[in-house]
Amino acid sequence: MIQYKSTRGSKNIKTSAQAIIKGIAEDKGLYVPDAIPSLGDPAELVGLDYRQVAFKVLSLFLPDYTEEELRYCVESAYDAKFEAEEIVPLKKAGDAWFLELYHGKTAAFKDMALSILPYLLTTAMKKEKEDKKIAILTATSGDTGKAALAGFADVPGTEIIVFYPSEGVSQVQKCQMVTQEGANTHVFGIHGNFDDAQTGVKKIFNDSEFGEELAAKGVKLSSANSINIGRLCPQIAYYVWSYVKLLEEGAVKKGESINIVVPTGNFGNILAAYYAKQIGIPVNKFICASNRNKVLTDFINTGVYDIRRDFYVTNSPSMDILISSNLERLLYHLSGDNGEEIAALMKSLEEQKYYEVSDKIREGMKEFYGGYADEEMTNDAIGRMYKENGYLFDTHTAVAYRVYEDYRKETGDDRPAVIASTASAYKFADSAALSIGLGEEKDGFAYIKALNAASGVRVPAGLKDLESKKVLHTGVVEKDSLKEAVKSSLF
Ligand SMILES: *Cc1c(COP(=O)(O)O)cnc(C)c1O
Repeated sequence: MIQYKSTRGSKNIKTSAQAIIKGIAEDKGLYVPDAIPSLGDPAELVGLDYRQVAFKVLSLFLPDYTEEELRYCVESAYDAKFEAEEIVPLKKAGDAWFLELYHGKTAAFKDMALSILPYLLTTAMKKEKEDKKIAILTATSGDTGKAALAGFADVPGTEIIVFYPSEGVSQVQKCQMVTQEGANTHVFGIHGNFDDAQTGVKKIFNDSEFGEELAAKGVKLSSANSINIGRLCPQIAYYVWSYVKLLEEGAVKKGESINIVVPTGNFGNILAAYYAKQIGIPVNKFICASNRNKVLTDFINTGVYDIRRDFYVTNSPSMDILISSNLERLLYHLSGDNGEEIAALMKSLEEQKYYEVSDKIREGMKEFYGGYADEEMTNDAIGRMYKENGYLFDTHTAVAYRVYEDYRKETGDDRPAVIASTASAYKFADSAALSIGLGEEKDGFAYIKALNAASGVRVPAGLKDLESKKVLHTGVVEKDSLKEAVKSSLF
């Protein structure tokens, strides 16, 4: 049976339920499966609905959950709160297939995992007879925060605490978070960027003294960030689903490979695509698209991961990240499960602010193509796609599309490509509206209305009437006082 071990070499093996409760390993590493399961022939999944495919994939990665437990989790998560009948529609526009992952409650792909994580976690707590209250600490670049709040609001036995960069998210994103209802929800802006928030949260996880203090008061910390395997595993399912849909459409024949394009920040979504390949989906290239914060592009091209550079706030804020946590998992697999090597790389990143990987890892990285798009290229892609195909996509998806265009030009590789479409255009309505030629408006909400009037695309329910909702969370804290904020939320 598959279990989970740390990327940094400690020998402490966990079941998937234990790993989901813990979030991050004691040695600061991330949990990875200790063996790769096999999906079997994807063609056998043709005709299944999304829930059935998700159940199949999750049962491979979470084998200690019973069939009944997993069915309960999957069916509670992927229901009518998704505004698309199919849960995840796959739409052809221009020369690519768009995997629309944003039809959940908060209009971003984070809902795919965060709708199910509360069920996976509370089920795990029952299985493990965990009697402590679980406090979920979450750093967000904009979308995870709201999706985690929506998923965990009023879930018994949990508290959810979110930190977002107070000047680094879109107006709509901020409004979504600060209006969140639920007695167990806590939201703080921080004076700093996403990396500061993520580093601060990781520091709290690694503060064993604080952990003991919390334990004495009956609280245990866990994470809703993509460092939690309970986030990662549900994301593998939709890549499997996309391939099954392409088979159904006749766009690929059995065994034919595809390319997968992912707008990337913390490297969670693209890592899920990588796992989909490991279990049996034929993928030729993983196309990793970045915005101006192009650490990953440079890493893929040089083998050097270097954060000694300026940080930019862009119009694809959910990708404004320099430290992509989940890359650690890929490097671990590519190193041949060498925990010592990975621990040394991460130490170098922390102390020297860069690392260079071995030739062996670089060889493995050849499955990845890295590219980036700046804001002008992003807006241009939105405008062209809309004009030529009447298809509207958001800034993050636009980054992915532009990098995919560059990839095709460079390589001539025209096999079917699935582009992870990660948010509704309405979440970043100002950029979308201006890119398709609409005029200036006074704020994000007015842009939503203008974009809707011009495009006719339905506004997601969660974004309607947002401006009239009551602001419930006003706290803003310094980046080195996250611990105090956690305490004030819990006690
Ligand atoms: C989170 C997010 C991303 C980046 O995903 P990672 O898993 O962090 O790489 C891209 N687009 C949107 C809209 C997001 O919310």
